[in-house]
Amino acid sequence: MHGFYCDDFVLPLPATHRFPQDKYRSVREAVTRQGWIDSSDLHVPEAASGEELLRVHAESYWWRVVRGTLSCEELRRLGLPWSPILVERARRSVGATLAACRVALTEGCAVNLGGGTHHAFVDRGEGFCVFNDAAVALRTLQHEKQIRRALVIDCDVHQGNGTAAIFAGDSSVFTLSVHGERNYPLRKELSNLDVGLADGTEDDAYLAALAHSLDRALPAAGADFALYVSGADPHWNDRLGRLGLRRDGLRLRDRLVMARCRQAGLPLAVVLGGGYGRAMETTVAVHEATVAEARRCWDNWREQERGAGAISAKRPSF
Ligand SMILES: [Zn+2]
Repeated sequence: MHGFYCDDFVLPLPATHRFPQDKYRSVREAVTRQGWIDSSDLHVPEAASGEELLRVHAESYWWRVVRGTLSCEELRRLGLPWSPILVERARRSVGATLAACRVALTEGCAVNLGGGTHHAFVDRGEGFCVFNDAAVALRTLQHEKQIRRALVIDCDVHQGNGTAAIFAGDSSVFTLSVHGERNYPLRKELSNLDVGLADGTEDDAYLAALAHSLDRALPAAGADFALYVSGADPHWNDRLGRLGLRRDGLRLRDRLVMARCRQAGLPLAVVLGGGYGRAMETTVAVHEATVAEARRCWDNWREQERGAGAISAKRPSF
């Protein structure tokens, strides 16, 4: 299975900053150590181009990001200081999701070991999200006529407000967000389907709500492609989470989402989303389990393709 990463682009942040950039490298090391992705199948993506980003983002915002002329208020909302490497990393992160989507189209499943920047709007960034990776990737695939309709399944504990706003009124992308109702962002946008959960929600109630929402979203979306923002932050010990899921529950969540997408025959791109554990090892373990489940999904897809005699011998090139 192929994976994409951009943890080589290290932001100059103070040690006390809340953005957990060390976790991305730790997740990459964990998934290669466990063999879920061979290191030869891990790639640093191209940066998303201006043309691709402008399929979603306002030109004036793009230039403010590139030139470093975001206002103090914009930077405060973003939660990250501007630097040239912030721009490069943000573009690579979108590039990683786009690359994972492209591979998923031919291989059934692929992952970005980052991404999930779902708080980025057309003309502003928020909550550590500069550009909206899912929106740019899906709009690009639609522009290229690789896909027609997409389903975004966002299980990060924070509502995918940017993604919801970007695709509001666009019936070709169905947005499902399963999140903490009382968590950030306090002012929610309208997804096609929002499931706002109470503080402290535990595994069984969460999984029942998720299964029910997938029952509704999959037929309503009529999609030919799915993108899953997994998120490790519904874990009970997450500093920003407020929900009560255990590691096993999160793994069952991933398995449920992926099994439903497989049953529906949807190619699936998986991105990691947030995770701010009081114990960073737990956050890394939750993300690693998501990749392990993606690997199962990929293995199943390949088995099925082999059974159909349709497997292609050629590997995608990067
Ligand atoms: Zn989050």
